[in-house]
Amino acid sequence: MLYVDLDVHHGDGVEFAFAHTEKVITLSFHVHEPGFYPGTGDGKEKGRGVYNVPMPRGTKAPVWEETVKRGVTMVWERYLPDCLVLQCGCDGISPSEYTNAGLLTDPHRGMSLTTHAFTRAASYILELCKVPTLILGGGGYHPPSTAKHFALLTATILGKELDEDIPVDAEYWEELEHDGGIHVGRDTQMPPDGEEEIERLCEALRQNIDKH
Ligand SMILES: [Zn+2]
Repeated sequence: MLYVDLDVHHGDGVEFAFAHTEKVITLSFHVHEPGFYPGTGDGKEKGRGVYNVPMPRGTKAPVWEETVKRGVTMVWERYLPDCLVLQCGCDGISPSEYTNAGLLTDPHRGMSLTTHAFTRAASYILELCKVPTLILGGGGYHPPSTAKHFALLTATILGKELDEDIPVDAEYWEELEHDGGIHVGRDTQMPPDGEEEIERLCEALRQNIDKH
């Protein structure tokens, strides 16, 4: 079984529970910096089938998206699991243009992810791993952004498109419409040093896979 954790925090509990066996492979993408909870998952773990991709605080959406796609593909091809658990915590969704404009997003300010990047990454994983799948929630501490994320994710799972605008008769319309439509953050381009950063993150994971 493959467990993929997209929450901005390291999936330490699940990793600890299954580190003794290769029947469950854990792969977590998260912020790893001094002072950022829980402080584990630095990519040097020695457990069986334990993989981590530690990222710097403020990682941009296109870098995260591409790293997740390539990272999941590498682990997927190495193990060809029978089933998948995908943890979709959205506490990394905190686009920098919101923070700069004084708008509220996830209080952790861990990464600059957007719902555009998140739904594409989730959709890619579901296309790649055509096995029985359990999709879980996770972190998300800004209620309107979290509601939008899970609405978009549900639509992605069902293969449906949502309208960009929040329906005017929606409960909490004011809160939801406050910072724009259904998406959180503008869809952004790859930063100039993005490809280099993706290669660095994926190479570290590749080396860990080769060691197993
Ligand atoms: Zn979290």
